[in-house]
Amino acid sequence: MYEIVKHIDFCFGHRLLDYQGKCNQPHGHNGRIEIRLAAQQLDGLGMVADFRDVRRSMSRWVDDTLDHRMILRRGDPLIQAIEALGQRACVIDDNPTTETLARLVFEQTQARGFPVVAVTLWETPDSYATYSPAPAQARTNGRQPSATPAAAPD
Ligand SMILES: [Zn+2]
Repeated sequence: MYEIVKHIDFCFGHRLLDYQGKCNQPHGHNGRIEIRLAAQQLDGLGMVADFRDVRRSMSRWVDDTLDHRMILRRGDPLIQAIEALGQRACVIDDNPTTETLARLVFEQTQARGFPVVAVTLWETPDSYATYSPAPAQARTNGRQPSATPAAAPD
C-alpha cells in the first residue's frame, strides 16, 4: 500500500449552534487540511496521484468555498447578516465542527476522482479531526470481486 499526503492551509470562521461554550461565538482559525490518498499499485509514472493535480483541484475548491469565509449551519441567522453586507458565507447542513468539515473535504476530494482514504482537519495546532469511511466499508470497497465461479450450467 502506498500513501501520499497533501496539506492545504486556509483560514476560516465558524460558530457552533446548540452548543454551550465559547465556540458558539463567531470566531476564526488558521486551519490545515491533510488529504491522504492511497493505492495498492502505482500508476505508470510511479505515483499514487500527482501532488500538483491534487493541489490544483483541491486548493481551488478550498479557495473558492472555505478560505476566508464564515462556515455556518443552514438556518443560522448570521447567514442573513453576512449576505446583507454583500458577502457570502459557506452554508452547510450540519454544525460546522472540525469533524463535519473533515468529512466535507473528504467527499469533495472523492468526487474529483482522487483515491482518498482519509482527511484530517487541524483546527488548532493541538486539535484535529479525521474522517475516513468505516474500516469495514473501506475493506469492501478496496477488495477485488471474489472469484466465486458461477454455477455451471447443467
Ligand atoms: Zn472553532
